[in-house]
Amino acid sequence: MKIVTVIGNRPQFVKAAAVSGPLRDAHEEVLVHTGQHYDDELSTIFVTELGVPRPEVQLGLGGGTNTEQTARMLAALGDLLREQAPDAVLVYGDTNSTLAGALAAAQLRIPLAHVEAGMRSYDRAMAEELNRVLTDHLADLLLVPSESAAQNLALEGIRSGVEVVGDVMVDVAQLVAPRARADDGPLQAAGVRAGEYLLVTAHRAGNVDDPARLLALVELLLSLDEPVVLPLHPRTRTRLQDAGLLDRLAAGAILLPPLGYPAFTSLLTRARAVLTDSGGVQKEAYLAGVRCVTLRDSTEWVETVQSGWNTLVDLDAAAARAALAEPLPGERPELYGDGRAAQRVVAAMTRLGAR
Ligand code: UDP
Repeated sequence: MKIVTVIGNRPQFVKAAAVSGPLRDAHEEVLVHTGQHYDDELSTIFVTELGVPRPEVQLGLGGGTNTEQTARMLAALGDLLREQAPDAVLVYGDTNSTLAGALAAAQLRIPLAHVEAGMRSYDRAMAEELNRVLTDHLADLLLVPSESAAQNLALEGIRSGVEVVGDVMVDVAQLVAPRARADDGPLQAAGVRAGEYLLVTAHRAGNVDDPARLLALVELLLSLDEPVVLPLHPRTRTRLQDAGLLDRLAAGAILLPPLGYPAFTSLLTRARAVLTDSGGVQKEAYLAGVRCVTLRDSTEWVETVQSGWNTLVDLDAAAARAALAEPLPGERPELYGDGRAAQRVVAAMTRLGAR
């Protein structure tokens, strides 16, 4: 069976790192990179470091508003899918690339599989939430990471084609974490010691595009008592520069470029705690047994909050400090699968082809 997989941003490269290998053992895959993230640090570094196959097609369609970007991708992917005529299309997560790939496939009546289906923050102000909901309603095969994601879909009337496969990012984390945990290099480069720093990531539009919220974020980070290590997403760096806040933050935090996955995992697994507005990082902190403080007022990864490992503080500095002072919960149940989600994705794709 021939499958076109559409990826475009950093977490989608991580997900492809789990799935593309086993998928290619069983089927023909054409990997398409839309170019939504075009910096090497957010895309090609995963090809060299995580063994993601070099994308067969590079569309180079980054930049512009969400609307313009999605429209450009839709047009290009429509042409590409007509030309490639695959048996199925595979999309991951919740980005503009996900929605464009999904809609192009559905319009051509090509069977569509969505990995990480069923996630909801119930916040329609997030572009990602719109992309998730629409993609799920277009998909023929909905591969969900947890039972609660399947329940979210049932509440929207989607019951057929849903399979709980676990989370493919767990597969990658389990593979990389043991080696990353033993590697002191990234901590030495940042000038910190294990258990004595806070690892931070922030790049959500809702936090960095609005100058008042960006200022609140900077003030929150500068109010923390422990050293802050912050690998800066290019979007965040640009917004900080434009707002004249970069030097102020650099004076009180250890700012790094975006890191490759193993180096980032090394810092994450050995941090005292993580503060983030990233979806993937909330989950990776849970897997590593590291407290997470989420710089948002909602999350799709609700189980991490319910189990006491993750606290939503939005940009409230006092709430963040209080959450950081909390003791760690005694238990950490397996929430998102056993690290073999990619095998289940491939088996489900094979069944989709046989339908
Ligand atoms: N990540 C990375 N280097 C970094 C920051 C994050 O490799 O400097 C990884 C992280 O481990 C996770 C993924 O990128 O697997 C998360 O991506 P991001 O936060 O951009 O997206 P989100 O999960 O919020 O959609």
